[in-house]
Amino acid sequence: MRAIRRFTVRTVLPAPLVGLEELAHNLRWAWHPGTRAVFADLDPAVWEQVDGDPVAFLGALERERLDELAADPDQVARVRAAAADLRAYCEQPRWYQQQTATTLPASVAYFSPEYGVAAALPQYSGGLGVLAGDHLKAASDLGVPVVGVGLLYRAGYFRQVLDRSGRQTETYPVLDPDALPLSLLREADGSPARVELALPAGRVLSAQVWVAQVGRVPLLLLDSDVPANDDAGRAVTDRLYGGAGTHRLEQELLLGVGGVRALRTYARLTGGAAPEVFHTNEGHAGFLGVERVRELVADGASYATALEIVRATTIFTTHTPVPAGIDRFERRVVEQYVGAFDEEATLPVADVVALGVEDHAGGDPRLFNMAVMGLRLAGRANGVSRLHGRVSREMFAGLWPGFDAQEVPIGSITNGVHAPTWVAPEVTALAARRMTAQDLATGAGWETGGTVGDAELWELRRRLRTRLVEDVRRRVRASWLRRGAPAADLRWVDDALSPDVLTIGFARRVPTYKRLTLMLADPERFAALLLDPLRPVQVVVAGKAHPADEPGKGLVAELVEFADRHDVRHRIVFLPDHDMRMAATLYPGCDVWLNNPLRPLEACGTSGMKVALNGGLNLSVLDGWWHEWHDDDNGWVIPTADGVDDPDARDDAEAGALYDVLEQQIVPTFYDRDDHDVPRRWLEMVRHTLATLGPKVQATRMVADYVAHLYVPAAAAGAALAADDRARAVALADWRARVRDAWPKVVVDHVDASGVGTSPQVGDRLHVQAWVDLGDLEPADVEVQVVHGPVGPDDEIQEFTVTALALDDTLEADRYRYSGDVDLTATGTFGYTVRVVPRHEALTSVASAGLVTTAS
Ligand SMILES: *Cc1c(COP(=O)(O)O)cnc(C)c1O
Repeated sequence: MRAIRRFTVRTVLPAPLVGLEELAHNLRWAWHPGTRAVFADLDPAVWEQVDGDPVAFLGALERERLDELAADPDQVARVRAAAADLRAYCEQPRWYQQQTATTLPASVAYFSPEYGVAAALPQYSGGLGVLAGDHLKAASDLGVPVVGVGLLYRAGYFRQVLDRSGRQTETYPVLDPDALPLSLLREADGSPARVELALPAGRVLSAQVWVAQVGRVPLLLLDSDVPANDDAGRAVTDRLYGGAGTHRLEQELLLGVGGVRALRTYARLTGGAAPEVFHTNEGHAGFLGVERVRELVADGASYATALEIVRATTIFTTHTPVPAGIDRFERRVVEQYVGAFDEEATLPVADVVALGVEDHAGGDPRLFNMAVMGLRLAGRANGVSRLHGRVSREMFAGLWPGFDAQEVPIGSITNGVHAPTWVAPEVTALAARRMTAQDLATGAGWETGGTVGDAELWELRRRLRTRLVEDVRRRVRASWLRRGAPAADLRWVDDALSPDVLTIGFARRVPTYKRLTLMLADPERFAALLLDPLRPVQVVVAGKAHPADEPGKGLVAELVEFADRHDVRHRIVFLPDHDMRMAATLYPGCDVWLNNPLRPLEACGTSGMKVALNGGLNLSVLDGWWHEWHDDDNGWVIPTADGVDDPDARDDAEAGALYDVLEQQIVPTFYDRDDHDVPRRWLEMVRHTLATLGPKVQATRMVADYVAHLYVPAAAAGAALAADDRARAVALADWRARVRDAWPKVVVDHVDASGVGTSPQVGDRLHVQAWVDLGDLEPADVEVQVVHGPVGPDDEIQEFTVTALALDDTLEADRYRYSGDVDLTATGTFGYTVRVVPRHEALTSVASAGLVTTAS
């Protein structure tokens, strides 16, 4: 039965210990071992019992125990010192406060449908959410003034349990927000602050706002489970990625539109700065742009002017080349919803909805696509690795007709991971003991001949592996008991896995493209690897399939069935309910991290980065981040059979390559020992990984890249457009409309070239002249360009270069001659063409106005 009211009975802390409240409610403890130690040392047994969750810990301490602790001057002093340290961390200047760019935004809003900050706040499904959590933590460490926006799901994602036969089943334990590290945003009179959103048919969706404090960064989480809502309204934030159709649409409207309203409320109540830049992590929050346009129009801007300002200050990070990862809704339904939340009829609804309609070649014009709207409302867009940037430009090229994929305005910033969260305490402690901060930051402290000896490094790796083995045994036992096995049958679990065997890990969500079961392609060859008497391999696997993903659930069942085999069960395990807590032991404990997605569908992949930070080696197909940062000494590449169309044949080929690398390279290297039983070559690779990947894969590097390449330029553009009553935004909107209307009359009449003879040679200079009609436009409105480069077999100019031509004569009122030179620098077939594109200082790329006329 559902409770009609609920509340959590809270502990009242004795005065000397009040600092604990602050320490528990700021999630910095999730990446600050010193704070966790303060809690743990207060009562190690209780700390263990609550799985290291500070809020639960405070709730579990008995009154007498608290009084006892409050009378202990040492404990009180430690609590006070930790609270003072937290305050200093939150208040003192950090990296961002030392930056000198003149347009540093005073506040940046970051929107994401999920956040993985800590296992104790289970509001994530996988990499996207953990990345969002790492983004906030790194922003906090750097002092970047980010405010996060998301939803609070009553049951989070889901908990995975295996049934007796080994199939995944799902449970949805309801979370009590009062028992989470959250506080409710309140009005000055103490009543909960409310965000409201009008829905079709006169319904109103109401939400309260929880604040999770992530170090210096507030994270606002909207929660529709409030009495003012009808049952459907209360269920809007029931589960992460749970519903479909209008349920999902309502979630995304609450996140985007409600999220902007929550930011306004938060700024009003705390006196904080208004965000100058809005960054959306994947397309789910895309309606934030529509709400911002609505605000500006309500404030007197024209729709076109508002669009300019919103575009200039919105950043869209795309995360998936997999179409199933992008939400699409029926266009007419979106029209009803936008019409409803725009209560004052401020917006031209049909135009707004058209922003997301798939009216490009290959799209379905009945559908509204969140990524399409995201790209059309964001002046800056990026993928999350170099390769993914390229794949995204190709995938979305249809939205910029007339331009080549290489000019599609989607860049890339490679993801990173938050080291203080993901580096095992043992590794941090060793580094702190042996290295200067400088040597640690540059990675030099891990190099061969550094201060950490081989024996010590190998001992560290063994300790991490041992901790994993112990955790695995505990989890496997619990899972078998749940599956109905009698305890007496589980003695074998005491010897499952070994602290001395080469350990391979694979843990992530289970969409089919990640190919959980590729390792089982040839089960006997794989079993032989596991069971080799002298040089065995052991494998730890985990992953949750989306509840509606039957093929994914089939893969889990197949893996579990193999791991259940009596002959291999001590060498391969499937751990149910993969989460951040499991991950924190798993990543450091693995010698090798396996990643075998169907290339190029893995946008970045971040788990391998977390493993690398702990000295694990990667074994991966050349996808995502591994494509740009692998080398011969930090792991192994699984060769891919790109271009093999039959999926089974491709899987077989790639699995064969995987076994080859394991048998011929990885196993021999791991077991090649010196007189002290130390694998020298292996440790060279471990050192190289720590020293060279360590500094690159960090979330602080990622966030600093976002600041430099996206946040600062977006803030500058927004400030320029908004100044003087939006004078430049008005002018830009007018210019865009004028150019769009006049464009059909722009023609490249004639092109002529001279300067190369009948046998062109490298070093020759091609002189190009073009006669162009501009109709009602002026030369200042356009650029005339020659596009040139080597011609491939399909007659396309590949990897082309663009050279602007200069105006050299006005022939008649609207007819002009342009000219310029191109040097021939390479042998082979050379091609060129001439085109006209709009020119304006505020355009972020040649394609962003979406207009081009090419010589025919
Ligand atoms: C890092 C992380 C992921 C990401 O996995 P990839 O497949 O490598 O992107 C997923 N789940 C959890 C719990 C993580 O910590």
